[in-house]
Amino acid sequence: MKFRKGFTLIELLVVISIIALLVSILMPALSKARETARMTVCASNQRQLLLGVTEYSADNDGKFPRHVAHRADGSFSWPSYLNYYVDDTSRHGNLSTPRGSMFNAMGKYIEDVGVFLCPLGPPTNTNFEKIYKDPEPNDHTNASYNSWWGGFPMTMADGRKFIGPTSDTNKKGQAKLLISDMLSFWPGSGNLQWWISHRSKSATKQEVDPVFGNNTSMFWVETNAISANDPPDIKINAGFVDCHVSRYGKDEIIAGNGGFYIPQEWK
Ligand SMILES: [Zn+2]
Repeated sequence: MKFRKGFTLIELLVVISIIALLVSILMPALSKARETARMTVCASNQRQLLLGVTEYSADNDGKFPRHVAHRADGSFSWPSYLNYYVDDTSRHGNLSTPRGSMFNAMGKYIEDVGVFLCPLGPPTNTNFEKIYKDPEPNDHTNASYNSWWGGFPMTMADGRKFIGPTSDTNKKGQAKLLISDMLSFWPGSGNLQWWISHRSKSATKQEVDPVFGNNTSMFWVETNAISANDPPDIKINAGFVDCHVSRYGKDEIIAGNGGFYIPQEWK
């Protein structure tokens, strides 16, 4: 019997095209599986943040931590800030003064700073932990998540008033929502954008804060936003005072002022 050595060109091409076909069939399934796994880690991060806030509250007569974006005049700024000089009155605070950090109140309860970062978010600044725990003047960062405790106020698109969970009993109708992924509509400087922690298909880049540079940036940016009424088709996670975390799609969320989206069922 006579054996050939090796493959003919045709055989080789057939084998290569079969492999290419298999890869093209498997790749979407793999990337879908990876996204699902990351969505689960995101929910787990939020649950750990909820547990941290709950423990803080148990140790402090039922009070929630003060929100770092809470200004001295009673108003609030950006809800994903992790460090901020709490008594400054301008949007970003006085950059040259030592600032407060959420770590001051929460460090004992949330030791792993990684839980502030969604695995579906953009690459993390390497100084993230240092900036969170021990910020220098001019250091500044965001979490991937918006935190709503401390009475964070918003007026919603349907006219309802949102008040984040607080220990202030005068504030009736407080929400049960404590935390959620960032999904916001940003009018910016003439350029309508979405800032999101979960990357959409048309997100093009990582947000770079015009004031602070990349240090602050934990969001993807979708630059082709048309109106605040048409959010990207992504799912977000959100966590509540009873420590449950749920997933919400585009039709289950609502915008507040500042363009921040939260679940419609924030009560
Ligand atoms: Zn997330």
